[in-house]
Order: sequence, then structure tokens, then C-alpha cells
Amino acid sequence: MNYSYWELKNWFTNVDFCIVGSGIVGLNTALQLRQRFPKSKILILEKGTLPQGASTKNAGFACFGSLSEIIDDLDHHSEQEVIDLVKKRWTGLQMLRNNLGDREIDFRSYGGYELFLQNDEETLSNCKAKLPEINELLHPVFKQDVFSIQKDTSSFGKIKETTIFNKLESQIDTGTMMQALLKLAVSKDILILNHQVVTDFHEFEKGVQVAINDHTFTVGKLLFATNGFAGKLTNDEVKPARAQVLITEPIPNLHIKGTYHLDKGFYYFRNIDNRILFGGARNLDFIGETTTEFGQTEIIQNNLERMLKEVILPRQDFKIAHRWSGIMGMGAQKNPIVKQLSEHVYCGVRLGGMGVAIGSIIGKELADLV
Ligand SMILES: Cc1cc2nc3c(=O)[nH]c(=O)nc-3n(C[C@H](O)[C@H](O)[C@H](O)COP(=O)(O)OP(=O)(O)OC[C@H]3O[C@@H](n4cnc5c(N)ncnc54)[C@H](O)[C@@H]3O)c2cc1C
Repeated sequence: MNYSYWELKNWFTNVDFCIVGSGIVGLNTALQLRQRFPKSKILILEKGTLPQGASTKNAGFACFGSLSEIIDDLDHHSEQEVIDLVKKRWTGLQMLRNNLGDREIDFRSYGGYELFLQNDEETLSNCKAKLPEINELLHPVFKQDVFSIQKDTSSFGKIKETTIFNKLESQIDTGTMMQALLKLAVSKDILILNHQVVTDFHEFEKGVQVAINDHTFTVGKLLFATNGFAGKLTNDEVKPARAQVLITEPIPNLHIKGTYHLDKGFYYFRNIDNRILFGGARNLDFIGETTTEFGQTEIIQNNLERMLKEVILPRQDFKIAHRWSGIMGMGAQKNPIVKQLSEHVYCGVRLGGMGVAIGSIIGKELADLV
């Protein structure tokens, strides 16, 4: 691209902070930097027309972990690590609400439910047995019991009668949340350029030379908020994880209200606009879903449709309106990677399936590294 003098001067010269990725982390990083450096030039580079990873693709669960997920986390992390993870998610959700306002993100506290398949006695028994212990463990964070047992799953099919209810789980409208963040960023004089792929960078004494499409320019600090696309940057400590989702047409008299976790969180669904949004089944093809390519596969889509018909809406006619996918960033550990990579280069990546909860906080932590 042969940029004009004006374009070069206003967009690509004297850039103090260049952020790669305009997802929830990139936008929060930029907003935090603006607070600390009111006069700085902040530029976000985004490869998609819209943020093209997970932040505009997700299910909008404002959650901090289902009971079976927290029990599973305790097998891989210490008790204190699990408490810290949950605390960070909870604090991050409060930060998101304070920054944008509940109306802007359409925050709704309908509660969350964990459902158990009829043939999964083991997970249910384990959850029931450990419920008091986990409520106790999380008491320092919530000062109250979070999980309780409920018995009414009559509208579902092939589901055990007992469910675990989380009264503190909520849902948001992902689209309005991201629009609110984008508008806030623009109002704070943060420049956002779309269709810009950062293809390379070279550090020098005073800054970083950044290569995008067919142009190269220099910036003071370079901050990567590229999550599922950060494999190369992190020596494969971040693995891409595609997640496929579908949504039904509006369903008259829909009885389902809340966020639902099913089969140890491998499936998740919620109500939105009288529809059911339903995703999951990555466990059917972990290898195939370890990809940065968007798309749907037969094995997962067929399974989602079957579960929708047999388990979620067994006595209801419905039509599938739309399907899509998003790319998450996963790894061996659930903790995000927020670190300085070299003198002028930083990253805040590997948000897993909890970016709605922790995205705001990770943006702040990334900005605070500078
Ligand atoms: C289907 C699905 C459902 C989910 N459901 C939930 C949920 O209910 N609750 C929850 O808390 N979390 C959920 N998540 C996870 C959550 O969406 C993510 O953790 C969060 O959005 C990550 O935000 P991010 O800003 O780190 O990454 P992203 O939103 O992926 O942003 C990274 C950005 O970097 C850009 N980028 C990458 N490489 C480059 C490059 N070289 N040059 C320029 N730009 C680049 C990408 O285009 C992208 O926009 C879900 C995710 C998916 C996919």
C-alpha cells in the first residue's frame, strides 16, 4: 500500500503502544494504557473485519467454573491455585460490569445449572459428595455458599433428576459487550485498524519494527493479545482450540432460562432472544479441533443436533437458524500467560474458556507490565 503523507503521519508515526488483536484483552489493554498515558498514541491492529477470534463468537456465560470443573481443576492445581483462579474470574466479572455497565452488556442473573446425563452416575455422585467441601473452599471469595442441589429437570430428556445450581452465574450479550468496548476505545482516542495482519516484528534498541500486510513501521512497545493465535509467539505453550456453536430460530414459550453446563462442561447452552444457543462436543475430536481455521465439521454438528433434539428440547419442534465457530487459546495450565517477552514486547494470551470473566483483568495485567 502506498500510504499518503497524512496517513503515515497520523496513523503510523510516533506510535507509543501497538496492540495486536482487538478482542476483549486487546481492547482492555488499550483502555488501561490510555488511563496511565493520557497523551500517548495507541494503535490496535486487527486481522479481521471484526475481532476474529473468540470475543465476538462466544456463548456469553458470565461464569467462574461449574462444580465438576472446579473439582477437576483440583486434580491439576493446588487448592490455593484453584481459589485464585476462581477469585480472578469473579473479580474480572465485576470489573467488566463496572467498566461497561450492566445495561450495556445486557447482564442477566438467571443463575447457572450443571446437568448430568442419565448414564453418568459417577460425575453426579462425585459432585454431590464434594459440594460442601467446594462451597467451604470458596467461602473466602464469595462469603456465601455458591452451589446447591436442585431437583427439576423434567423438561429435559436423558438427564438425571438432580442438578447443581449456581446462584451467582449470569449471562451477557456478547455482541453488545464487544460493541460497547469498541465504542469506548474509539471515544478514548484509541486507533483501530482492521484487516491488518501482523506478520513479523524486529526489536531494536528504542522500539520494535512491525510488519503488517505490505507495510513496515516502528512502535515504542508491542503488546500481543492474540490468544488462540499465539502458538508461535509462546513456543506452542498456547494451543488453538476451535469451538463450534449453533443457535435455533425463536421458540414459542421457551421454558429454558439460564446458563447450562452438561456432561462435565463438554456441552453448554443458554437462552437468548427466545432461542437456544448451544455449543461444545470438542471432546469428540480434540485433534481435529486443535486448529486456527474457522469452520464446522459433520461429526460435531451432527452430535450437537442430536443432543439438542434428545436432551435439551426433546418435546419441542425447533429449527437451527445459524452455526459458527470461534478459536480459543488453551494449554496445559489454566492460567493465562501474561509476560514480558523482551525489552519492548509483551503478551497476554491463553484465556481458555473464561475470557468473558478474565478478559478485563488480563488486559489490565498486560498494560501494567509496561
Ligand atoms: C464458541 C466459544 C464460546 C465461548 N464461550 C465463553 C463463555 O461463555 N464465557 C467465557 O467466559 N468465555 C467463553 N469463551 C472464551 C472467550 O471468548 C475467550 O476466552 C476470549 O474471548 C479471549 O479473548 P482474547 O481477547 O484473548 O482473544 P480473541 O477474542 O480471540 O482476540 C484475539 C484477536 O487477535 C487477532 N489476531 C490474531 N493474530 C493476529 C495477527 N497476527 N495480526 C492481527 N490480529 C491478530 C484475532 O483476529 C482476534 O481478534 C468462548 C469461546 C468460544 C470460541
